[in-house]
Amino acid sequence: MIIGIWSVNHTASNQASLENTIKPAAVIFEIPKVSEKPLIEEEIVLEETEEAVVPEDNQVEPELEEEIVIEEESKEDLPIAEVNIIDKLVNWGHHVPAGSRVIDTVIIHSCYDALGDEPYSIDGILAEFKIYKVAPHYLIGRDGAIYRLVIDQNIAWHAGVSEMPDGRTSVNKFSLGIELINLKTNTPTEAQYIALVELVEFLKGEYEIKHILGHDQIAPERKTDPWNFDWERFNKMME
Ligand SMILES: [Zn+2]
Repeated sequence: MIIGIWSVNHTASNQASLENTIKPAAVIFEIPKVSEKPLIEEEIVLEETEEAVVPEDNQVEPELEEEIVIEEESKEDLPIAEVNIIDKLVNWGHHVPAGSRVIDTVIIHSCYDALGDEPYSIDGILAEFKIYKVAPHYLIGRDGAIYRLVIDQNIAWHAGVSEMPDGRTSVNKFSLGIELINLKTNTPTEAQYIALVELVEFLKGEYEIKHILGHDQIAPERKTDPWNFDWERFNKMME
């Protein structure tokens, strides 16, 4: 417990501004010397579980500050090594097919919570989906977190009345739906593009995906999403 507080204080003092907090930092640094062994053991555990925690605990202060900055930048710029999917399975907006289904299409959507005060609220969006009895398979938050609402093998109700360029209808039957959270007046975030690319690449490994389309491309008279989606950027990231 003490270590947790120590780490938070230390990080906070770095972020606040080092020049104003030299004395508190120096005092804090003396704490590990008092009971060295248990503290080090706990620190190792923290390092394994918390990515953002300063990795080099007993090093010189300026180095710590630099490492924090690098980690913040790399979150935005570097692709995620593997897809991290958070299960938030829902009990509406989908059904179990009679047999196994063949998935060859991904449909990209946009959404936000229009009913509550927080348009990006995951729970708010889920509540809205529930009211309309719809669901995508995946929902990608502004921070790039990927939530699975419906398992791939179930038919999720996301496409509605729609038609593929090849003439097929009942698009839900053979597609996976992915919702990106953004407003009509803004764009998906960098983190969302990265997460989407990682997810679609993962799905391409699982299924023979032949079509990746926006909702507006299969229901042009009813739908305008994904809003402000940069297909050129997405396609380049998928290369
Ligand atoms: Zn849509």
